[in-house]
Amino acid sequence: MAEILKGKPVADAMDIETQKLVNEAAKKGQKSKLAILRVGERSDDLAYERGAVKRCEKLGIEVEKVLLPADCSQADLMAAVKKLNKDESVHGVLMFRPLPSQLDEKEACESLLPAKDVDGITPGSMSYIYSGSGSGFAPCTAEAVIHMLRHYGASLGGSRVTVVGRSLVIGKPVSMLLMKENATVTVCHSRTADMPSVTRGADIVVAALGKAEFLGSEYFSEGQTVIDVGINYSHAKEKLVGDVDFDKVSEIVAAISPVPAGVGSVTTAVLARHVAEAAVRKTKK
Ligand code: NAP
Repeated sequence: MAEILKGKPVADAMDIETQKLVNEAAKKGQKSKLAILRVGERSDDLAYERGAVKRCEKLGIEVEKVLLPADCSQADLMAAVKKLNKDESVHGVLMFRPLPSQLDEKEACESLLPAKDVDGITPGSMSYIYSGSGSGFAPCTAEAVIHMLRHYGASLGGSRVTVVGRSLVIGKPVSMLLMKENATVTVCHSRTADMPSVTRGADIVVAALGKAEFLGSEYFSEGQTVIDVGINYSHAKEKLVGDVDFDKVSEIVAAISPVPAGVGSVTTAVLARHVAEAAVRKTKK
């Protein structure tokens, strides 16, 4: 049976360092504050919001919720972003996506002030991730994968890592962050031929394809570390499951993160860290 890589110990260890940043900023007059911009009432947004609020409160990070109805106009959304940009008390903004289809997500992302972009959605943050220089923040989930691997002692330098998924939110940024750690990265997607032969040859597999328990035993080999980013509701099992068939794959690999209680728990810790860092940066301006 594989070692189970739970997210809580990783998040707890991160919180200790984040608390120091919150205190440092507070001493210099910046009370760390996150604004959550939510359009509508999607259940996964609400679940993430609850986790984020709980973690921020524990760390003394203030949270302001800005809520818009699901049928709001682009002008309403842009006005909300602009107001948060101007609000000197707000250090970071988390805008839930995807937005309802009537809204122009690109315009909203691009209008956010880069200094407050704690979830890596602006062109400035993307440039930071892809160029490896600058001062943006990576998307929280992508960075959470790196914290998981580091915490559990995975040696990334020189190792072969296969990432399944190439979205802008997870697959692409996590590939760049892994490359920065000197891993040799292969990215799979829906057009990849013979994917099991690619994933089986990796030392580490990061699964981020958004398909319930899609990756079964044929995708894995002995000794591997598996980070399952997927969060899917299984109607058959009436519970949340990952992109990896945990029961079968945990019999084969050396280590695997569970869903829930894996990467998801670390994502809010990264968010809190980014808000505290943004507050500290403001004290240095
Ligand atoms: P997404 O935008 O739908 O992207 C999915 C990616 O997987 C795409 O690149 C797609 O390839 C690829 N893919 C789909 N089917 C595939 C297949 N059969 N074989 C190989 N690749 C395939 O999803 P996402 O936003 O990246 O999210 C991925 C998962 O992470 C979801 O389950 C989501 O709920 C979860 N998530 C977790 C957290 C967390 O905190 N843990 C946060 C956000 C999201 P193409 O590009 O070719 O279409």
